[in-house]
Amino acid sequence: MVPTTNRLAANGHAPAKFWQNATTYFNRVFDELQLDNNWRSLLATPKRILTVSCPIRLDDGRIQTFTGYRVQHNNALGPFKGGIRYDLAVDQNEVMALAMLQTWKNALVGLPYGGAKGGVVCDPKTLSLAEKERLTRRYTSEVMPIIGPEKDIPAPDAGTDSQVMAWLLDTYSMMVGHQELAVVTGKPVSLGGSVGREEATGRGVMYVLARFLSTVHKSISDVTVAVQGFGNVGYHAARLIAERGARIVAISDRFGGIYNDQGIDIEAAGRWIRETGKLSGFSDGDEITNEELLTCDCDVLVPAAMENTVTEDFAPHIKAKLIVEAANGPTTPEADRILADNGVTILPDILANAGGVTVSYFEWVQGLDNYFWDKPRVDSELQKIMERAFEQVDTIANERDCDYRTAAYGLGIGRVAEALRLKGLFP
Ligand code: NAD
Repeated sequence: MVPTTNRLAANGHAPAKFWQNATTYFNRVFDELQLDNNWRSLLATPKRILTVSCPIRLDDGRIQTFTGYRVQHNNALGPFKGGIRYDLAVDQNEVMALAMLQTWKNALVGLPYGGAKGGVVCDPKTLSLAEKERLTRRYTSEVMPIIGPEKDIPAPDAGTDSQVMAWLLDTYSMMVGHQELAVVTGKPVSLGGSVGREEATGRGVMYVLARFLSTVHKSISDVTVAVQGFGNVGYHAARLIAERGARIVAISDRFGGIYNDQGIDIEAAGRWIRETGKLSGFSDGDEITNEELLTCDCDVLVPAAMENTVTEDFAPHIKAKLIVEAANGPTTPEADRILADNGVTILPDILANAGGVTVSYFEWVQGLDNYFWDKPRVDSELQKIMERAFEQVDTIANERDCDYRTAAYGLGIGRVAEALRLKGLFP
């Protein structure tokens, strides 16, 4: 019997567990690579943590104060960069963990950035558009002293989108007195955003999956896929993987999912969710729970929801032989060990979902240049970077006979450690 749980119930206080997981993976790789112990605490510690309160007037006239964070983990390789999350489960530990992963991710794919993350404790679905705008503008003004095109460049994450980034751009630009396109990425295309940014994380997932399958002499059209989470990342990953001929047999959102062994019509599911706000009621399959999705019959499992969803409770029951981590931190270290023992291959988060920040980098470059690329250029440059990152990770995994997570984290952490060593300590 597979236990039923969710990310908050599974681990007591999930965000604290997430930070613990991120440092467990960090220490595991640090030890395996026998990196210089002198740098361990510096690499493991966020450089700056800013907590802000954001009071706003609600539509009914009441004042509510929201807590927000910006955590800047490490900037040895360049300005900080990382998304902003709006979610009720946001807390300092969660943002610290996400900022640390962002540092390794940016280094792994070779972007000239450090890692950061932000978040506001709120339920974006219950805020009106006007309330969300006021909250975004207030949060932006509160973190204003530490963000900027050369300092720290935010982007969307769960619960935020291009509209939120447009308000951030406008607030920052009003305060500095001129339009500053490069202060934020994931903006609407009509406002200096990059074509292809919205689907970029899902597209990157698809490129990495295709490249991995080619190493086992398969292609995307040979596999069946289950996708947990049907937001920005999950929807586009499912859509692009289906376009390449895979059968997507299961999808879900936070309320539950559907299963259809003949393959789900992903475009229709996307339309349904845009119209109704949730998957339930979409009739192209049988209703399943999120727990059933994790353990359903499929070749590839793509967790694209939130952290800590693949726990040790489910790991022994997972039938997929390949997990592609589209979300950040979906697999706990305990589950990771069980899955490894069961012969399951995991393409880790910092590799699989790096497509978003990669096209964010393209957007930043375009904003600084005021010269904008077309979609074929964005897609082909993204493909080049994702495939190069996969090949470097694959080479290390083969040379060291280690799993992909160890190889990917090792590469990312090693590059940041090398930058620190070369720079030395200030003063
Ligand atoms: P989103 O808010 O657009 O979508 C999240 C989806 O997951 C929704 O369908 C939601 O209903 C579902 N969900 C939430 N909790 C769940 C649970 N416990 N079980 C099952 N489903 C659940 O968010 P997103 O932007 O698609 O981000 C998803 C993940 O990908 C996050 O871990 C995020 O950090 C990561 N990520 C996002 C980007 C990006 O560009 N947006 C880039 C890299 C990584």
